Formats: sequence, C-alpha cells, structure tokens
Amino acid sequence: MVVLRKGRAVAIRRDEQDESFDWQRSAACRGEHAVAFFPPPHFERKELRLARERRAKAICRTCPVSVACLDYALAAREPHGVWGGLNEVERRLIADERNGRGEPPRGSGR
Ligand code: SF4
Repeated sequence: MVVLRKGRAVAIRRDEQDESFDWQRSAACRGEHAVAFFPPPHFERKELRLARERRAKAICRTCPVSVACLDYALAAREPHGVWGGLNEVERRLIADERNGRGEPPRGSGR
C-alpha cells in the first residue's frame, strides 16, 4: 500500500499494515489542501505560520477521521505539521502529559 501523508505518497507499506491506514482514504486534507498542513521549505514568518495552521485546523474540524489521525500522529511521534487538528507543539504537550512529564495542555480542562 502507498502511504499518503496529506494526500501525497510518502512510502510503501507491507500488506499486513494496510488496514491500520485505511482512515487515510477518508482524510479531508487530501488534494490541494495538503499544503496548509506542513511548513514550507523556506523560512515562514510567525503570522503566516499561524494563519496556515488555522486553515489546516479548520479542515481537521470537518474531517471524519480526525481521531484516528491524531492517534496515529501521537503513536508515530510525527515531528512536523498539523495532524488531527493539533500542531507539533500541541501534540508534544499531550505526549508529555501521557508520559507523566510537563504540564497539561491549555484548554484540557485540568
Ligand atoms: S484530521 Fe486533519 S490532518 Fe488528519 S486526516 Fe483529517 S484533515 Fe488530515
């Protein structure tokens, strides 16, 4: 199976792993939206990054597979981009909290 990241093929997975990546077929970020989810290859000013991430997160809010996506990104420790509606810093806060390190993320209700 071809593994898609934001609609772009990034790897070939063995058949037995296909089912665990089925959620990617329903991802709302496939196609032309993909550019909003990762930083450009050049320096990106903070206000442009924030605007890009807002666009990506708005798409995530409409996505039918956001839970599976976030679970994947947390498990894989995806170091870049917006996955499951969270950027890399927000995911790191959750991972740290799960590992008993750091403060709970803002807005977590605790
Ligand atoms: S939750 Fe966001 S990043 Fe994940 S598949 Fe859906 S649109 Fe893409």
